[in-house]
Amino acid sequence: MAVPIVRRRTAALAAGLMVIASGGIAAALNSPSAAAATAGCSVDYSLNDWGSGFTASVTVTNTGPAVTSWNLGWTFAGNQKVSSGWNATITQSGAAVNAASLSYNGAIATGGTTNFGFQGTYTGTNAKPTSFTLNGVTCGGTGATTGGSTGGTTPPTTPPTTPPTTPPTTPPTTPPTSQPPGQKVDNPYVGAKGYVNSEWSAQAAADGGQAIAKQSTAVWLDRIAAINGVNGGMGLKAHLDAAVQQAAGQPLTIELVIYDLPGRDCSALASNGELGPTDIAKYETDYIDPITALEGSSAYSNLRIVNIIEPDSLPNLVTNAGGTAGSTDACATMKANGNYEKGVSYALSKLGALGNTYNYIDAGHHAWLGWDSNLGPSAQEFYKVATSNGASLSDVQGFIVNTANYSATVEPNFKVTDNVNGTTVRQSKWVDWNNYVDEQSYAVGLRNQLISDGFPSSIGMLIDTGRNGWGGSARPTGPGATTSVDTYVDGGRIDRRIHAGNWCNQSGSGIGARPTAAPATNIDAYVWIKPPGESDGASQAVSNDEGKGFDQMCDPTYGGNARNGNNPTGALPNAPLAGHWFSAEFHQLIANAYPPLS
Ligand code: BGC
Repeated sequence: MAVPIVRRRTAALAAGLMVIASGGIAAALNSPSAAAATAGCSVDYSLNDWGSGFTASVTVTNTGPAVTSWNLGWTFAGNQKVSSGWNATITQSGAAVNAASLSYNGAIATGGTTNFGFQGTYTGTNAKPTSFTLNGVTCGGTGATTGGSTGGTTPPTTPPTTPPTTPPTTPPTTPPTSQPPGQKVDNPYVGAKGYVNSEWSAQAAADGGQAIAKQSTAVWLDRIAAINGVNGGMGLKAHLDAAVQQAAGQPLTIELVIYDLPGRDCSALASNGELGPTDIAKYETDYIDPITALEGSSAYSNLRIVNIIEPDSLPNLVTNAGGTAGSTDACATMKANGNYEKGVSYALSKLGALGNTYNYIDAGHHAWLGWDSNLGPSAQEFYKVATSNGASLSDVQGFIVNTANYSATVEPNFKVTDNVNGTTVRQSKWVDWNNYVDEQSYAVGLRNQLISDGFPSSIGMLIDTGRNGWGGSARPTGPGATTSVDTYVDGGRIDRRIHAGNWCNQSGSGIGARPTAAPATNIDAYVWIKPPGESDGASQAVSNDEGKGFDQMCDPTYGGNARNGNNPTGALPNAPLAGHWFSAEFHQLIANAYPPLS
């Protein structure tokens, strides 16, 4: 994959993005006149009933305006009592019940759905409620009575789907077979182990990396064949089974990289993929659907499955699809045909509908989208894709920055607000008017922008820190000289790249912060998505059957292009194809780890 830099200095912030004002929408729905105008919901209420107890799966479809929180009300006809629920806070007073959204699932776009469930007891009859209200408005449609015994749609959580063969012998408040699977948590990394990919781990340990071989790294599903396993390697099921073993009954987070869009890697060549620009149907049917089926299997309902959604794709639509020096025809094609957007929306909606999955959308890195003139349009693009083609905001747990890149998490020796003799750091050659100098400040700034554009404040950020440590003897120990803003920045920066737009097998790089849960406010985790030791791209053309091309940004002798300011690439020589083991780079990463490895 490639992570190009393109700056747009003109402050051409597009106006007119729809901002959902949660208070306003809820208030409108609660007012009688609005109620008359928009009876906007239908409900599918399905039962698993064993005579004295039951579980109910409730799917709400919002056919009215988008909402950012919801209350679904109904009245039981009999003496049903709710004993526990999932994906909603359920309160009952007499026969009247209210199910309220949680922090992560309050948003339902127009046409979007949400699902929750509960377990209950009763005597006599257990008729389905015939009328529901959403935020005070009576639902139209006939959905309330149409649900079959196992439900019309796949529920996002996996409550018991088959009724117990015999009624529970214990009191009715006890779950029929097992507790309903865990609700989605706000930050899946907190209190969870990380999955160790035994294939990467063995490779790292065998090549001098024993000190890091037990770290958690992501599993890349970089082609359809990866679902079943490439060349006899582990497929998705094998990884998920291994994750269940490793979890040993405790919470465990496993990271999967969803990475096979049509026309993949449109601004570069190194990670071009197997699907042509128009292969959207194949992407959905042969790639996302089987992944969804596996992730949704009840065998894995206790895992916390993190999906990293399509690195580089949406950022490429923002900066490289026309109108800038760095644009490519391939990106313009993908923007025009809409297949990146359709594919990402499809992945979000399918994977987000499962009960234990957490989708993080790739958001480039600070030296790509950090200029204000890129940040605003990026947030708008993310919002558009997260609310189109069946996706809704509740399908998005958050965003990831620095995937497979080398930008420092925090530059310790200067801030964007510093100045030298009246010249701001933003004016230095290195920073080049960017509004951010490192990934953590960018992640926080982007998150603020996303929330002001309509994402819920529950979103969290991930930072890929696998290869951004920049330790070793070249690491500055303090700020640079204040002779000029350039001596100050260049003498102090830990990121030793020739240019911040360089992305391929960077000379001098080192292992960064180890995977860490909740390392800073609103940062869900530091993660290792690009497995250290795997190449970013071949340094010369290599024939292959993976669809991968040769990108000159991986050639140390190349003089650069518009996306790296026409600078040398800083790439290591003799690199193999993207994703293949690159021993020399791995040794350098170990030697330059920061914090150092003991
Ligand atoms: C490659 C993938 C690989 C991934 C992780 C990407 O650059 O294109 O094939 O799985 O890196 O190494």
